[in-house]
Amino acid sequence: MAGGLGTRLKDKTVTMPKGFIGIGDLPMVEWSVQKLFAAGIEEVIIGTGHCDEWYQRLAEQYPCITLFKNEHYAETGSMGTLACCVPGVKGDFLLLESDLIYDAAGLSVLINEPHPNVLLASGPTQSGDEVYLEADTAGNFKKHSKNRALIGDLAGELVGITRLTRDTLDKMAAYMKAHLADEPKMEYETAMAAVSQSGDANRIFIRKLEYYLWREVDDENHLAMAKLIYPRIKEAESLRAIRREVLLNPGPATTSDSVKYAQVCPDICPRESEFGDVMEWIGRELSLMAGKPGHVETVLFGGSGTAADEVMISSCIPDSGKLLIVDNGAYGARFAKIAGVYELNFEVFKSSGFLPLDIEALKAKLINGKFTHFAMVYHETTTGLLNPVPELCHFCHEHNITTIIDAVSAFAAIPIDMDTDHIDFMASTSNKNIQGMAGVAFVFCRKEALEKLKDYPMRNYYLNLWDQYQYFQKTRQTRFTPPVQTLYALRQAIIEIKLETIEKRYARYSACWEELLAGVKKMGLKMLVPPEAQSKLITAIIDPPSPAYNFEALHDLARTHGFTIYPGKLSDANTFRIADIGDIRPEEMARFVKVLENYMGSLK
Ligand code: PLP
Ligand code: MG
Ligand code: MG
Repeated sequence: MAGGLGTRLKDKTVTMPKGFIGIGDLPMVEWSVQKLFAAGIEEVIIGTGHCDEWYQRLAEQYPCITLFKNEHYAETGSMGTLACCVPGVKGDFLLLESDLIYDAAGLSVLINEPHPNVLLASGPTQSGDEVYLEADTAGNFKKHSKNRALIGDLAGELVGITRLTRDTLDKMAAYMKAHLADEPKMEYETAMAAVSQSGDANRIFIRKLEYYLWREVDDENHLAMAKLIYPRIKEAESLRAIRREVLLNPGPATTSDSVKYAQVCPDICPRESEFGDVMEWIGRELSLMAGKPGHVETVLFGGSGTAADEVMISSCIPDSGKLLIVDNGAYGARFAKIAGVYELNFEVFKSSGFLPLDIEALKAKLINGKFTHFAMVYHETTTGLLNPVPELCHFCHEHNITTIIDAVSAFAAIPIDMDTDHIDFMASTSNKNIQGMAGVAFVFCRKEALEKLKDYPMRNYYLNLWDQYQYFQKTRQTRFTPPVQTLYALRQAIIEIKLETIEKRYARYSACWEELLAGVKKMGLKMLVPPEAQSKLITAIIDPPSPAYNFEALHDLARTHGFTIYPGKLSDANTFRIADIGDIRPEEMARFVKVLENYMGSLK
């Protein structure tokens, strides 16, 4: 709720909404938005009014914010603004005010409460603007007042963070409508109290946290208090931080703490419809990242990236089909191994692991060999070589050849649109650029290509694409036990990539790569792949010529500084590899470069 004029803060809020007052290094409202997304909230709706252009700018920065403006903000109260937001509210939601600073623990307390409607209360704040709360005998919200004398037994002070169902919101809006004439400036607390006492379905439980750290900022005095409480909030939140390890191996990648914490959730049987909602949401959001709305279906499997590769190779080729596989690294070679196990009709186009493909020779082979299917790795993680997938898939499309792409280490960093790039099937996994936990494999399918699979032979059981797809369509369940907690982490990872955007994520990864590149050049080290053919996601560095060089020693030194690095994977070149994917920053790569420099110095 951010519509108000904030008149008690005088000149500070004449041309700016209250929420934009900075505490620490961000505006209050931005802290709040970040905490909400980190707590697993998928979408933030802001009810605006006064100086709403500030919120328009905020919404441009955060794609998951939707704005609803209360045009009558000067003549209505907070309930008027809340009523304007009703059309955007899809289900259960948290209701907050824009002028709050608070410990994020309050959000998880409300999210974990068994009561569907819960109002957060604290012990005494002595803020001078306390809203006192009274509960009924069952502990539900009954009455509020700034005048302590009007309240019976004190149930706590109102914080301004509440969890509500959509049904309760509808009842509140109806209450406002019925009382508009007598109370045009109704605050939402008034509607909440009335609805809470109107019947069991909408009762609002008061959850009191005696020592909760929070402040609302309505005047200069509150602002001074908020600035004192802010460091205590930061400290409390920092106590929940997980020890930082920067993984410079090519996945599983470093994850945010919010992704780690997303796995700590209530037990749930995955056959419950709520979990069906979670998987459906994950599938829909992943599909939107891979192609145009409505064109792509994402099929989820429990398994690693190789499972998704095996799903595609075993499920997407009819007995009459003929497959050409490009092998220019370990993962192309793995495709060929899988095709061999299933005894498919296939050939391999072998190419250097570190030099760009001979595209013309490959095209000629596709045509002359009468291939019906084409499989290639988008980004060969073996060396960091980026293959020209759009160009080749375009060619395949023109010649009616079905395309099967391993985008395990490309998806969610390299911009991909399966429609414009003519990719029919594409594999990826939860633990690379998407920055989730290992354990979920996904296959993206262009809808027309997917429909053809229903007539194809079923060569295996667990990994069959058509069966898994069909079953989920019918039941909103996977055929076999899904990795429940890993899927919750993936859900959080998707919230986070929607916030960052794929484009900015790749820019961040590239900035990390630039740090590495500058260091490598400065140290006189050589890279295996020419920079123009590199993905900028992983770099294979040729081992230094010094006889004293030892990968294990470098690895162990890096680990003592919190960095994990990876050995090379080519039989014909001695390299080590530095990836720059995951929740990492360029400053961290710069620190790693220093560690590498120190090690290199020690060799002389
Ligand atoms: N394909 C590519 C391009 C990869 O980079 C990887 C793993 O690094 C895989 C497939 C295999 O994934 P997993 O190890 O999860 O089975
Ligand atoms: Mg206020
Ligand atoms: Mg107040």
